[in-house]
Amino acid sequence: MSNTATQAQPAPRAPGAIAVPKLSVRQIVPWLLFAALLALVGLYFVTAEQGATSLIAGNAVHEWVHDSRHLLGFPCH
Ligand SMILES: [Zn+2]
Repeated sequence: MSNTATQAQPAPRAPGAIAVPKLSVRQIVPWLLFAALLALVGLYFVTAEQGATSLIAGNAVHEWVHDSRHLLGFPCH
């Protein structure tokens, strides 16, 4: 009795098709956490830096993210 009928065979690829790698959740979670951390840092600089708090002296960060701050509804002046 042949066992080939129960084994999964890869689908034939069309010419020029790109193979999509299979990723597990364990491979993705660290990158999701890193992206969340970067998003939180970005959110801090847009919403609070040189407004409610100030880690960097001067007005450069405030001026750079000023329109984003108002677009998101955070008051600054
Ligand atoms: Zn403003």
